[in-house]
Amino acid sequence: MDIHLDTLLGLPYATVFTCYQKAGFIILKLDLINEGINCHHCQTYTDKLHEDRPILVRDLSICGQKVYLQVPRRQFECPNCQKTSTERLSFLETRRRYTVRYEEYIYERVKELTAEQVSQNEDLSPKIVTSIFQRMASRKKRLGTT
Ligand SMILES: [Zn+2]
Repeated sequence: MDIHLDTLLGLPYATVFTCYQKAGFIILKLDLINEGINCHHCQTYTDKLHEDRPILVRDLSICGQKVYLQVPRRQFECPNCQKTSTERLSFLETRRRYTVRYEEYIYERVKELTAEQVSQNEDLSPKIVTSIFQRMASRKKRLGTT
């Protein structure tokens, strides 16, 4: 049986370019298959890449190992209005260092355990666990999904 890594990853427009193992964690380097985006200012389609500054974000563990995704953060320049737009990703909110599904996971775990236990299990500081929990709780409140 051959399951492709991208299928396992399950993130829209993302494909695993390569993966490597470090002490205690795995890094999956992602590529995005869409070549451009619509300008956030005037909606014109652009594939004129201005800048790409990849970031490392924590994702759900695989086989008991911590996982970080190296995600391209692309800025595109608009041929129409000349402004630049940073690509929005459905699985990662702006300026976050954790995927949305990882934050969801932390939220659910804290509901079952304590922030202290989750902090130990996930190797995150208690402060971060609490802030993720509070953030997700207010997000759910806002979206009315509690
Ligand atoms: Zn534009």
